Amino acid sequence: MEISRAALRDLPSVDAVLKSATAVALLERFGRFATTETIRTVLAETRVALKTGTQDIPTVDQVASLALTRLADSDRSGLRPVFNLTGTVLHTNLGRAVLAEAAIEAAVAAMRDPVALEFDLATGSRGERDEHVKELLCALTGAEDATVVNNNAAAVLLALNTLAARREAIVSRGELIEIGGAFRMPDIMSRAGAKLVEVGTTNRTHPKDYATAINEATGVILKVHTSNYRILGFTSEVGGAELARIAAARKVPLLNDLGSGTLVDLSRYGLKREPTVREAVAEGADVVTFSGDKLLGGPQAGFIVGKRVIIEAINRNPLKRALRIDKIRLAAIEATLKLYRDPDRLAARLPTFRLLARPRSEIEDQAGRLLPHMQHAAGRAFTVSVCECECQIGSGALPLDTIPSAGLRIASNAGGIELERLAAALRGLERPVIGRLEEGAIILDLRCLTDEGAFLSALSTLDRDATAK
Ligand SMILES: *Cc1c(COP(=O)(O)O)cnc(C)c1O
Repeated sequence: MEISRAALRDLPSVDAVLKSATAVALLERFGRFATTETIRTVLAETRVALKTGTQDIPTVDQVASLALTRLADSDRSGLRPVFNLTGTVLHTNLGRAVLAEAAIEAAVAAMRDPVALEFDLATGSRGERDEHVKELLCALTGAEDATVVNNNAAAVLLALNTLAARREAIVSRGELIEIGGAFRMPDIMSRAGAKLVEVGTTNRTHPKDYATAINEATGVILKVHTSNYRILGFTSEVGGAELARIAAARKVPLLNDLGSGTLVDLSRYGLKREPTVREAVAEGADVVTFSGDKLLGGPQAGFIVGKRVIIEAINRNPLKRALRIDKIRLAAIEATLKLYRDPDRLAARLPTFRLLARPRSEIEDQAGRLLPHMQHAAGRAFTVSVCECECQIGSGALPLDTIPSAGLRIASNAGGIELERLAAALRGLERPVIGRLEEGAIILDLRCLTDEGAFLSALSTLDRDATAK
């Protein structure tokens, strides 16, 4: 007790630490306020440790370096770029699509300066923010009118609330999906104020199921793309065209939630064909909704395209204001959509398509080049090899279709703990490397690795002591 009281007296003061050489650099980098606060915190913790006798008296420089570690840690952005080597190209937890250069430039320009967001440059009077993308969306989808909101969940909520508040919304039991997180179709319906009317069964729904459910209280028929699963076997669903005929005959609007929604025929880019938005519109859906950051390859957004009277009603809904998007994303969306006017160069310009189109042979070659570097960085406790793997598109797009890919397989010679430790060290890098753990190995799927140089320099900073104890 006596010893620790004496020790406490010898603990440097905040002022003394501030005068150290390290602290001078800290003041320069982080400012007086944060530096002083952090030094104070470090000293307070040291005081506690001294009382319990678990620590020696630190020097001023030791205190300052502890403060540096802390300040540098808290200064690193939680949203700093990572390497997505998960094997899921559109990874929702990693921010889905990465943007095209044209979209990035447009967003940056819109951030830096005022833009004519709701200002008509031709007349000098007030304009509409949707105008910037409306014509593009109509041209690309064949729809009469279009609007855009925060994401597709918002698009569905807004469309349902506009068409079916205090009314009934008819949907097949086979399409009452959950998209993960808190997006469950029945919940969205009730929040939109619509009464859910389920028809058919999980595996089979027939035209007459819809027809008999329609009555004076029906506000909308909803068709939902079963994005993240497939019902296989003895199944039957009513196609969009037939459903549109049933809806039109009874003068009930048909809302088709396409989920990912693609604007082009994907088979052109080596992927399986998905119904396009244009086809859904042509089939006769009154409103079609789809995401901006799934296969479309743009920023997060929800598009609503369809009949003019309905889009106008949606725009008059007060909820629209709460769900609208800002100038930054609008600029990025406009630039992304413009790329679709030239499908021939889309694969070269849109990162999502570029990544999805990379052939396995090219990725395998890359894996071969990186193998020795990875082996060196991981150390002798691990065995690294080139492996074939299967990529997923992600975000609920084409859930059953994988793309042949390749990567590095890192197996531990010592056991699972070592593997966890290496995975954590990879995640702890200045630019974190995110792979997946599978059958006792770390798999780094290289489909989405575009900057090999950056990956190599990240590997060179891997702390082998932290990985191979
Ligand atoms: C992904 C998806 C949504 C939600 O879209 P977000 O853009 O993520 O809000 C809604 N419906 C379907 C069918 C989807 O696939």
